[in-house]
Amino acid sequence: MTLDLGTMRGALEHERDRLRAAIESVNHTGSLEEETGDLAIGSDDHIADSATETFMRELDEGLEENAEHLLDEVEAALRRIDEDTYGTCEVCGRPISEARLEAVPWARLCIDDKRAQEGRR
Ligand SMILES: [Zn+2]
Repeated sequence: MTLDLGTMRGALEHERDRLRAAIESVNHTGSLEEETGDLAIGSDDHIADSATETFMRELDEGLEENAEHLLDEVEAALRRIDEDTYGTCEVCGRPISEARLEAVPWARLCIDDKRAQEGRR
């Protein structure tokens, strides 16, 4: 495999930190509002404020669940790098394509099995 595991690990760790921060923000909405309120004092950056509010509303509307699910997937992918099973389909045992891993670094199924799984739903 020519896939650079160091690069993939870096991408996964970045995603994990981002998701953890997002989940943390939702779980402490009250304190976050206070923090952004403090930051807004004396600031003209209203666009950034409203963007943050929109982001938080979207998180409140069910994204928290998705973020936690995604975080599980990302952490599982990091474990697979440690265990040297990263990039191998859990169903058929064949390598997952590099293009797919670059698009979805936490993918645990090859594209064929992923499609088959979604088709069964
Ligand atoms: Zn497969």
